[in-house]
Amino acid sequence: MPKKKSNAKNWRPATLAIHGRGRLPKAHHAVSTPIVHTSNYYFETAGEVEDFMRAKGQGKVTREHEYARYGNPTQQETERKLAAIEAAERAVLYTSGMAAVLLVLMTYMKPGGHIIFTGDCYRQTRDFATNFLGKFGIAHAIADPTAEAIEKAIQPNTNIIFTESPTNPYLRVLDIPAIVKVARARNIMTIIDATLATPYNIRPLELGVDVVIHSATKYLGGHNDLMAGVALGSSALMTDLYKMQRMIGATPGPLTCFLLERGLKTFGMRMEHHNRAGLAVAQMLEAHPKIEKVWYPALPSHPDHKIAREQMKGFGSVISFLVKGGNTETRSFIDALELFLITPSLGGSESLVTQMSTMSFFDYPEEYRKKIGMVDNLVRLALGLEDVEDLIADLKQALDRV
Ligand SMILES: *Cc1c(COP(=O)(O)O)cnc(C)c1O
Repeated sequence: MPKKKSNAKNWRPATLAIHGRGRLPKAHHAVSTPIVHTSNYYFETAGEVEDFMRAKGQGKVTREHEYARYGNPTQQETERKLAAIEAAERAVLYTSGMAAVLLVLMTYMKPGGHIIFTGDCYRQTRDFATNFLGKFGIAHAIADPTAEAIEKAIQPNTNIIFTESPTNPYLRVLDIPAIVKVARARNIMTIIDATLATPYNIRPLELGVDVVIHSATKYLGGHNDLMAGVALGSSALMTDLYKMQRMIGATPGPLTCFLLERGLKTFGMRMEHHNRAGLAVAQMLEAHPKIEKVWYPALPSHPDHKIAREQMKGFGSVISFLVKGGNTETRSFIDALELFLITPSLGGSESLVTQMSTMSFFDYPEEYRKKIGMVDNLVRLALGLEDVEDLIADLKQALDRV
C-alpha cells in the first residue's frame, strides 16, 4: 500500500476520536478493532522467545503481545486514540477512574512527601488521602479550589498538587496556568482529574499540567455501560505508570476497551449535545421561581465564570442547584421526575439525578456534611443525550409538583 501523506496533526478531537493519529494495519482488515479474548499469546519456536526476551531487555518491542495482564489489542488501540484526542504523547488505561487516581499517586508519591488536594474533590480521592496516605508516611492538605489557597498550602516537602476541574458538585473551575506557574517554580508535579471537562472542553496538558486523569466511565465511554480510567502525559512520565499498570493488572479487558473505543466514535457529537443541553437547562433552572441557586460555570452568577470562559470550550452537562425548601421539597421534586434515573455518575446517554446528602455523603456526620456544602436541598443533574426540550419539560413538571 503506498504511504499517503497525513494531515493528522491538524485533526480536531471528534476526528481524532475516530481515527487516532492515522491508520494502522488492522487484523483481518476489520474496520472496528477485533476483540481478542485470550489470556496469553504463543510463540512459534523456543528461539523466538529468546530473541523476544533479548530485544525486550534492550528496550525494543518485536511483538505486541505476550500475556493479557500486559495488555490486549483493543486496549492498545483505545490508548492510542485517547492520547490523540488529549494531544498527549501517551495514554495508560485502567479498570476504573479510581484505579487511575490511586496508581498515578502511588507511582509518584514519595515517603516524607506532601500532597495538596483541592477541596470539593471526588469523594473516594478525598477518602484515599485522609484514610490511607498517612500509612505510607505521606502528609497531605486539602485546599480550597483556588490558585491562591493552593499556593498557601505548599510546604517545603510538597511534591504533588492534585487538582480537579471542574469540581463536583459545585463545578469550581481552577485557574490552571496560575497553579502550574506556582508548581513549576518549586519543582512540584501537577496532576489534574479533568473527568467533568473531558479533552473536548479543556486542554490541561497545553496549559502545562504534567498528568491528566479521566474516569472514562463518564463522558469518554458515554453510555453508562462500562468502567475505565485513563492517565495521559509525556512518554517519560507514562513509562512508570505503564509498568505499574502491567504489574498490578489494572488493565481493562478487551470487551471494556471495545465498548470504550466504540463510545469514542461519537465523542465529539455527544459533547456538543452535552454542552448545549447543560447551558439550556442551567438557564431554565436559574430563572425558575422554585429554585434558590444554580451552579453552572457558563452562568455569570458562578464564582469561577471568568476563568471558565477563558479556559473551557463548553461546560458539560452536570448542573447543581438548591431547591427552595428542605428535604421534603427536594425529595418530592426528585420523585416526580420521569426521565431522570436516581443514581450517581454522569456523562452517559441516560439523564441522572442525585440528592448529594443522601447519595454520596450519607455516612458522613451531618455537621461535616454541612461544612462541605452537602445540604439536603442540593441536587445534582447529569444530563444525558435525550432531546433537551423533553428534559426541560420533565424538570418543569416535577418542579410544579413541589
Ligand atoms: C467518577 C469519577 C471518578 C472515579 O471514576 P470511576 O471510574 O468511578 O472509578 C474520579 N473522579 C471524578 C471527577 C469522577 O467523576
